Amino acid sequence: MYDVIIIGSGPAGLTAAIYTTRANLKTLIIAGGKWGGQLMLTTLVENYPGFPDGIQGPDLMIAMRKQAERFGTQIVEEDFIEGDFSKLPLTVKTGSNTYSGKTVIIATGADTKWLGAPGEKEKIGRGVSSCAPCDAAFFRNLDVIVVGGGDSAMEESTVLSKFATSVTVVYRGETLRASQIMQERAKKNPKIKFLYNNEVVEILGEEKVTGVKIKNNKTNEETQMPINGVFVAIGHMPNTRSFKGVDLDEQGFVKVYDHTKTNLDRVYVAGDVHDAHYKQAVTAAGFGCMAALEVEKFLREQD
Ligand code: NDP
Repeated sequence: MYDVIIIGSGPAGLTAAIYTTRANLKTLIIAGGKWGGQLMLTTLVENYPGFPDGIQGPDLMIAMRKQAERFGTQIVEEDFIEGDFSKLPLTVKTGSNTYSGKTVIIATGADTKWLGAPGEKEKIGRGVSSCAPCDAAFFRNLDVIVVGGGDSAMEESTVLSKFATSVTVVYRGETLRASQIMQERAKKNPKIKFLYNNEVVEILGEEKVTGVKIKNNKTNEETQMPINGVFVAIGHMPNTRSFKGVDLDEQGFVKVYDHTKTNLDRVYVAGDVHDAHYKQAVTAAGFGCMAALEVEKFLREQD
């Protein structure tokens, strides 16, 4: 029986574990087959405090994992299947085991949102991607588009511009949502162009991407644009499948009732899985700390 089972191994989950193990609570992390969360897919992280020159996303996660393990966190790289949090002990099922705990922290993060346009799904990995740092090198001397108008779209375009011949940001609105500094960096880049008021309605090509059909949402005019790659940067969806009985909001994020507590006794939440607003590594880590302190207080009061 674990004192706390943490589902998820991004900054929220690992920070929670650092706190719970230092409070002498027997802690298990269900890390997933691909541990570490979204930062494992990033290159340079410039806004995590403590690293004046930035740090590579995977290096930051490896450091957090080492820190959690140093204090005795057990980590299993198994995929979470489902949890039953309705009675004691709370149980968490993975592909290969069932674990029992007194409390649970849900820290499963969020995943890429896709466009849902015809031709997209079957071409993921064949010209359609959501991770420029992972795939940009495949588009050397080719033409690509990035869909979205937030910070992710600016970041992806900047990364892609190091390899691609041209990068066009296709944005459905008129005024980018991205922060000023990120916009300016992208706008100054001679390889990056912007196409406003346009939406991708179809991704063309048989074996791989050869173009997109875009629609001007002011004039309703549809045109075809020959390109080799589509990078989707339109936000993320929370990983909240299979949490029976846990209250979610309309977009699927876990609802927080009071200081990281969910609607269920003994079940807490931390990070992007409940935070649709900040979505930063440092805020996820902060929420992980808060959830761990709440768990510790709860178990202390039970004893
Ligand atoms: P955002 O939610 O900020 O932006 C999503 C963008 O995609 C919006 O411009 C939105 O358009 C557009 N969009 C959403 N759905 C669709 C759709 N179905 N079709 C077409 N366009 C769509 O997400 P981000 O991932 O960009 O950023 C998330 C958070 O992470 C932010 O807080 C951001 O600041 C942060 N971040 C920080 C970075 C950094 O500091 N280095 C880097 C990357 C992200 P509309 O504007 O019309 O709603």
